[in-house]
Amino acid sequence: MKRLIALLVAGLMITALAGCKKQEASAQIFAMDTVMGLTAYGGSAEKAVKAAEEEIVRLEKLLSRTDAESQVSRLNEANGKPVEINEEVRSLLKEAGAYSQATGGAFDITIAPVVSAWGFTTDSYQVPEQAALEALLETVGMEHVVLAEGQAALEHGTRIDLGGIAKGYASDKVGEIFAEHRVEHGMVALGGNILVMGTKPDGSAWRVAIQDPARPNETAYAAIVQLEDAFAVTSGSYQRYFEQDGTLYHHIIDPATGYPADSGLTSVTVVADRASGSGTMCDALSTAVFVMGEERALDFWRGSAYPFDLVLVTEDGRVVVTAGLENALMEIEESGYTYEIVS
Ligand code: AMP
Ligand code: MG
Repeated sequence: MKRLIALLVAGLMITALAGCKKQEASAQIFAMDTVMGLTAYGGSAEKAVKAAEEEIVRLEKLLSRTDAESQVSRLNEANGKPVEINEEVRSLLKEAGAYSQATGGAFDITIAPVVSAWGFTTDSYQVPEQAALEALLETVGMEHVVLAEGQAALEHGTRIDLGGIAKGYASDKVGEIFAEHRVEHGMVALGGNILVMGTKPDGSAWRVAIQDPARPNETAYAAIVQLEDAFAVTSGSYQRYFEQDGTLYHHIIDPATGYPADSGLTSVTVVADRASGSGTMCDALSTAVFVMGEERALDFWRGSAYPFDLVLVTEDGRVVVTAGLENALMEIEESGYTYEIVS
């Protein structure tokens, strides 16, 4: 699984050990189907990292579609009946509904049955029949999710998949835990979901590298963004896909067609300040913007009330960056991409 890569973590650890007496801790875990790295400096860094690991395990149990005991699975298997859910899941479903609305349905957690039909839930990939896709699309749409006090119901056939938002939500919770433990500098990389807290321990900005989607198996970057106290979440067609008869089919589905989004983009990174944005927002929007494609995405960026910026990598070799990241962007000359700042 090749995702956004957190640069320089190893180098930083050595610097921290040599230079200062701040507590420092890091951990690497596999959860939510991806490799996760947690690094914290200052405050009670060790306790913070331990508590964050436990929190990620808790969230995986709560939100996973493949764990039969999770609240999400119980909802999915209830055949239209209302199911008791806790306030946390309820508010996450509500927030997911808001992103669906804001993105004109490009982000939609009820895409679950379609994702399954392509085999992405079970790793038994196949291209579904058109008629089967059309039937499944009838069950897609947030109007089929009914929320009430303490409970939720999915209309018959409708299922939900929080894979497009869960890691972003987890990064928010890890950020809260780090803050409670007075962590001063931190790097949280949950697959393609990055949260950087403060600066690097040496006072300079963190460098978040965006994988070159054209070279997913190499250490090759399309761009680097220099960030402090920010989220950076990447969605890319190279992150999960299968090949059949010479065609690549990836895991980000356009709810309008039921097919992998064919939008001309190969990777989307959504960046937001920690103070005004959230990992949940960046995660939902990265998936949505991938579906939208460049033109619709830039219109959305210009008109949206959400506080975010974008790095888009296009199939035709361009890296398109919105104005708020102009100073943060580091171009990679050897990547061969051309760079455009848009406003
Ligand atoms: P991400 O990596 O955040 O872009 O999320 C991709 C994952 O979200 C997929 O593996 C699916 O589980 C799910 N998904 C796919 N298409 C969509 C969509 N249009 N809206 C919401 N979730 C989606
Ligand atoms: Mg996402």
